[in-house]
Amino acid sequence: MIVLKTARELELIRKACIISAQALQVAGEAVKPGVTTYEIDRIAYEFIKKQGAEPNFLHLYGFPATACISINDEVIHGIPSKKRVVREGDIVSIDLGAKVDGYNGDNAATFAAGQISPEAKRLCDTTEESLYKGIEAAVAGGRLGDIGSAVQTYCEERGYGVVREYTGHGVGAKLHEDPSVPNFGTPGRGVRLLPGMVIAIEPMINAGDKAIRQMPDGWTVKTRDGSLSAHFEHTVAITANGPVILTRA
Ligand code: MG
Repeated sequence: MIVLKTARELELIRKACIISAQALQVAGEAVKPGVTTYEIDRIAYEFIKKQGAEPNFLHLYGFPATACISINDEVIHGIPSKKRVVREGDIVSIDLGAKVDGYNGDNAATFAAGQISPEAKRLCDTTEESLYKGIEAAVAGGRLGDIGSAVQTYCEERGYGVVREYTGHGVGAKLHEDPSVPNFGTPGRGVRLLPGMVIAIEPMINAGDKAIRQMPDGWTVKTRDGSLSAHFEHTVAITANGPVILTRA
C-alpha cells in the first residue's frame, strides 16, 4: 500500500532527510586512505545521535551498524569493520539514514579515497548523473517505469550494468515502504506517480555486468564479475510542482 503524505508529514520527513544528508556528508568527509569503515560508521552514528535522531539502519532486519559501507566491487550492504581499511584509490559507497519525530530519511553516495582511476571516476559520475535523470522523471502524473527507464537508459548507453535485485522504495514512517522503485523499467508502465508520494531513488550501477552475488556474511553484495560498483541515492517528494529532493544537507 502506498501512503500519500500530508504537508505536515512531508515537513517531518524533510527534517529527517536533512539530518540524513548532513550525516552522509560528514561520513563522506571521513573517507580517506587509512581510515577503517568502523571509524566512518562511528562518525555517522555520533553525528545522528547529536541531532537528537536515531540511525534507522541500525538493527533494521538485524543490520549491526549505522551505515552500509561498500568498497570497490561491493555493491551494497557492506558491514563496517575495524579490520576493513580504506586504501588509496578505493571507491567507498556509504548508505545511511536518520529517523526523527517518527519519520525517516535515506540517502547514499560513493566517495573517492584519494586519487581514483579515470574508470572509477566515470562510473561514479555516471551513477550520480543517472540518479538525477531518475529524479527528473519523478513527475506527478507519470509512471514508476519512467524513473527506472531514465536510470537504465542513461547507464546502459554508457556500457554499465544496472543491478536488478535491489531497488529504491517508498519512505515515510517506515524506512522501506511501497512502492519498490526499480532502476530499470518501461516508460508509461507501472504505478502512477502522485503528489504526496515520497520515494528513495537509488541506482546501483556496475562497471561490468549487472549480475551480483551475495557474500557468506549474509549482507554484503558484490558484483559477480569483480567489476567496480557505485551507488547514489536521494529521498524525493513528488509534488504538483515537480520532484523535490529532500536529502539536501
Ligand atoms: Mg534506500
